[in-house]
Amino acid sequence: MKPRTAVTRRGFLVAGAAATAGNARGAAQTASSHPVLDSVDVLVVGGGTAGIGAALGAARTGAKTLLVENHSFFGGVASWALGMQPNQMRPGGKPRSAVHELVIQKIQAYGDAAIRLGVHEIWCNVEYMKVAILDALDAAGARYLVHTRAVDAVVQRNRITGVVLGTKRGLMTVQAKTVVDCTGDADVAYYAGAETMTQPDALMPMTLAVALSNVDPARTKPADIEKAIRNGRTKYPLITSGFFEIEPVANSRTNYWINHAGTSDMGRIDATDPLARSRAECDSRRQALQMVQAIRESDDPALQQIEWAAGGPQVSVRETRRVKGVYILTEEDAKKGRTFEDAVAWRSGFLDPGGEKGAQFTSMLIHDVPYRSILAEKLDGLLVGGRCISATHTGAAAGKSMGNCMATGHAAGVAAALSALKNIVPRDLKVPDLQARLRADGVNFNLGDREQKGLR
Ligand SMILES: Cc1cc2nc3c(=O)[nH]c(=O)nc-3n(C[C@H](O)[C@H](O)[C@H](O)COP(=O)(O)OP(=O)(O)OC[C@H]3O[C@@H](n4cnc5c(N)ncnc54)[C@H](O)[C@@H]3O)c2cc1C
Repeated sequence: MKPRTAVTRRGFLVAGAAATAGNARGAAQTASSHPVLDSVDVLVVGGGTAGIGAALGAARTGAKTLLVENHSFFGGVASWALGMQPNQMRPGGKPRSAVHELVIQKIQAYGDAAIRLGVHEIWCNVEYMKVAILDALDAAGARYLVHTRAVDAVVQRNRITGVVLGTKRGLMTVQAKTVVDCTGDADVAYYAGAETMTQPDALMPMTLAVALSNVDPARTKPADIEKAIRNGRTKYPLITSGFFEIEPVANSRTNYWINHAGTSDMGRIDATDPLARSRAECDSRRQALQMVQAIRESDDPALQQIEWAAGGPQVSVRETRRVKGVYILTEEDAKKGRTFEDAVAWRSGFLDPGGEKGAQFTSMLIHDVPYRSILAEKLDGLLVGGRCISATHTGAAAGKSMGNCMATGHAAGVAAALSALKNIVPRDLKVPDLQARLRADGVNFNLGDREQKGLR
């Protein structure tokens, strides 16, 4: 069998330019080729909460679905933050979709050590959660790869037809009828040449999460830990002057996790800039150590016995690029609780400034996400879910909660599957067909009183 080849957008453009008198497509096919690893209906790139929602949505719709992830496990920030709660997974204690429920049920199957349910959020031990996500993907029939990083896109005649992955065997291509970008950073859209948006003067800080063990709740309250860390700032200058959130892991008595304002004193950092990102990662690693030192050097013996259990595998990133969609969601949409004819998801909770200095959580109303905001404006074949959907800086802050990211991922995955199965581009998909399928998956577009009451 002849090895199959693929052409990247770069190769296509170079070859096209060099072959104006010849066969541009033929030349392009050989200009930049990588072995084809797989061919699928739906390729989901990025396995955070959005990518999980997308892969589950696509596979449950009957599409041959592959989820690829850069790390060795799924969950994205939900896993990197070591116990931080995915919000808006069950607003008002009510199921929001079959996909959200599948993930919750798979974590619950591991018992009380794995999960504690809140009013809208779930508090998880991430080690159980990582396995439960695999269980959910298996149950839905989604296939998945870890240690595969998208590094380029294959674009032919303005349609994305695959993604180039960095693997241990070098660059390899996955061909796909539709692609869903759930990288958080809009990597695929960027590599494919689709328009992306960033607001460099407003980028939210990043945070390396910290996990602590051997906390004695009878002698130590979270406020004591926070006070010790803040007191340590004189000696340890990397410790943030911003907020701290310190909570027990799921139902554990002695294990805690810390979320905090991370790099907020280090200036606006673009996590897609390799130099700035490296500095931020390394400074954050030192910052985590300094926080632990500050706790253990306190005068209080109960704090001195606390141990450093883990640091996040990487900084958790709040904001980078977003895909420019056909519609850009705004702060006003969130605050006015706007509805749209082409609603494919809704977002609840609050406008979360994500540790920005001086910024406060602001209330918003439940509002719709139109199909146009998960559809790349000009490039065909590309949908987007999660934190990089089409929104302004504050419009994105309204959808940051992981339950909301899973909802937009779910919608993008189902849209990608329906398009692939019908052999059409997502732009040509009839929105009522998509809405019907999402309703069958338990998504309720008629929330009646769209006030926030009881739903956060
Ligand atoms: C510090 C911090 C605190 C937060 N606090 C909360 C909270 O308390 N509750 C809450 O609900 N939300 C919180 N949020 C917001 C929430 O975590 C994010 O909005 C959400 O995780 C975004 O989900 P996502 O799937 O879009 O992206 P991510 O969770 O960022 O996942 C993206 C995934 O894509 C993978 N990936 C990226 N690039 C590539 C590539 N090129 N190839 C292959 N894979 C790739 C990544 O490894 C990752 O697994 C917080 C965010 C941060 C950063």
